[in-house]
Amino acid sequence: MKFYSLHHKSPAVSFREAVIRGIAPDRGLYFPEKIESLSPSFYNGIEQFTNAEIAFKAIEQFAAEDIPPDILQSIVEEVLSFHFPVVPIDDRIGTLELFHGPTMAFKDVGARFMARCLGYFSASRNSDITVLVATSGDTGGAVAHGFLGVEGIKVVILYPSGKVSDIQEKQLTTLGKNITALEVSGSFDDCQHMVKTAFLDSDITERRQLTSANSINVARWLPQQFYYFFAYKQLKSRNQKIVFSVPSGNFGNLCAGMVAQQLGLPVGHFIASTNINDTVPRFMQSGQYSPRQSSPTISNAMDVGDPSNFIRIRELFGDDFEKLKTHLSSYSFTDSETKKAIKEIHAKSGYIADPHGAVGFLGLKKYLRDHRESYGVFLETAHPVKFIDVVEQTLGIKLPLPPQIEAIISKKKIAYPIATYDQLKEYLLNS
Ligand SMILES: *Cc1c(COP(=O)(O)O)cnc(C)c1O
Repeated sequence: MKFYSLHHKSPAVSFREAVIRGIAPDRGLYFPEKIESLSPSFYNGIEQFTNAEIAFKAIEQFAAEDIPPDILQSIVEEVLSFHFPVVPIDDRIGTLELFHGPTMAFKDVGARFMARCLGYFSASRNSDITVLVATSGDTGGAVAHGFLGVEGIKVVILYPSGKVSDIQEKQLTTLGKNITALEVSGSFDDCQHMVKTAFLDSDITERRQLTSANSINVARWLPQQFYYFFAYKQLKSRNQKIVFSVPSGNFGNLCAGMVAQQLGLPVGHFIASTNINDTVPRFMQSGQYSPRQSSPTISNAMDVGDPSNFIRIRELFGDDFEKLKTHLSSYSFTDSETKKAIKEIHAKSGYIADPHGAVGFLGLKKYLRDHRESYGVFLETAHPVKFIDVVEQTLGIKLPLPPQIEAIISKKKIAYPIATYDQLKEYLLNS
């Protein structure tokens, strides 16, 4: 399977090359040349397969030319070492919990998968690969944990000083080994800008093999499709149309769900739920894509004004707006609506949702109002403890700390402060 650049000015490459490069030389995102349906018998018998077996089938066509089957099998087994339950909220709605991994956000699966692929590829190279990533919170922790101790890989994470939660900061600054955190005095956009500049800086790229671990990397993006299969496996016996509401920021997770649908997974509809950063909801109204500066919200992992993966969603449907509309609806919600939803979910079921999941719940509720035959699943993308201040304040309760979080909270933060691009460059060239 080859991957082509969505800018069409660089040659198509193998999975291996796409993972190592992250982005094509013409700055386009890589996209698979074709997507083939899995057999109807696979779907008919899906309950008999383990999660790792399902994941292997889903990812095989994309990666098999570059990773032998036994290795790919053991990679997915290691990556999927926790569970993905659908928890009922009421008789028409369930939540798919994606937060049972080491950093308690859904990005663990993609980050772990990418780390293991890159680790496998780097074994046959004679120089290190540097993973450079900007984070507004969850990406950094997931990438740090996913890549910790992987030979041949150095990880450099930029995060905006004072703008990530305490728990998030601890998750990316306490690991040591091959992981370095750079604390940037500036915003997330500043961090992202520095990273983009580094990728274009030939002084650096001639001396270091840089790659990105943001969801533009195919090895982080594609394994996210597994979640949708796991939900289907649990819900198939209901014999109902299943719709997914996905709390969306850069739209990698949602786009992966749409790939699963093209692999033949029976999905009735997708709902892209956002906070007030509503570039995609506006696009779905008007057909005009007009990105904006992002605004801060309580669901901050979705504070994205120009979602990087949305172009892949358009490509999946041949950039046909009418066709896309038959598969996707998109709604945005304010912080006060989100807090009300956290209260509503708790009152009706005792379930404690995080702000991102709550946005997903709101989108689902809106869609189900006019589609009463469907069963709705909203993705719970982070454990509520990751947004402890908002959740405790909104519900007036205390959240117990899970063991993964307890273990890091007392560890010592190690981060190098930087303020300018030149400081980043110096670090990359001299480390
Ligand atoms: C990253 C993240 C999202 C957004 O996912 P995308 O794939 O970027 O759309 C949603 N919720 C949480 C908790 C996240 O960490």
